[in-house]
Amino acid sequence: MRRRHALQPDQAARPRLAANLLVGPCDVGRGIFATRAFQPGELILHLAGPRFDRSDPIHLTEAGANLLQTGQRSYIMLQSPGVFANHSCDPNAGIQANRRLVAIRPIAAGDEIRYDYSTTMDEDFWTMACRCGAAGCRGVVTDFRLLPAAVKERYLALGIVQGFIARKERRRSEAPAGQRSSVAAPSDSAFPARNRTR
Ligand SMILES: [Zn+2]
Repeated sequence: MRRRHALQPDQAARPRLAANLLVGPCDVGRGIFATRAFQPGELILHLAGPRFDRSDPIHLTEAGANLLQTGQRSYIMLQSPGVFANHSCDPNAGIQANRRLVAIRPIAAGDEIRYDYSTTMDEDFWTMACRCGAAGCRGVVTDFRLLPAAVKERYLALGIVQGFIARKERRRSEAPAGQRSSVAAPSDSAFPARNRTR
């Protein structure tokens, strides 16, 4: 559903562990599927790729949709098979320690592996209409800080929120009530607001 179409996946460069995954068709295009069972907390895939800064013009290109945010200003360009991981508002996987895609509930062989893109997003310039089909689908994929409080708390407790976002959330929750609204958006406005389909 997201991303993925601008880059040709390099099957020869698949990271380790990819033997446990398969890229295949799904209801939103292509996705990644488990070829064996994963237990909650188990590593599915280590995400890696070239680094890009927030100010890089690549954000304004189609390929920019394949970037995973790993810091307030830092991104990595996802490679196959990770680049094919789709979004779900009711995910069976999440990203720990910025790069480790892990199971957050039991995953069976044949299941599509999805994570919630909002757990990686604090950008102010990217949203995506969501048709993930989950019962609690939010209808839109947007920055983490805009998620319902209960959803944020669950993801934070699971440790599947990118570190720089989790630290911001902690600061926000520790701030006196009257100051909370001022902790929100990054001041960087290098990019126009826009909607993309990925
Ligand atoms: Zn959804």
